[in-house]
Amino acid sequence: MAVPQRRTSKTRRDKRRTHFKLEVPGMVKCGHCGELKLAHRVCKSCGTYKSREIINQ
Ligand SMILES: [Zn+2]
Repeated sequence: MAVPQRRTSKTRRDKRRTHFKLEVPGMVKCGHCGELKLAHRVCKSCGTYKSREIINQ
């Protein structure tokens, strides 16, 4: 089994962890109902996109 030749230093370890972040993917407010929705997607709560295209069930 491959084994690391040397221990990862605290600096190296912490530098690696600077990339671990919490990120909410592109949430924007809906222009129609004001709900938070995913950008470039039809609004889940009111079914509109670009304030017009209404997708009703
Ligand atoms: Zn909406």
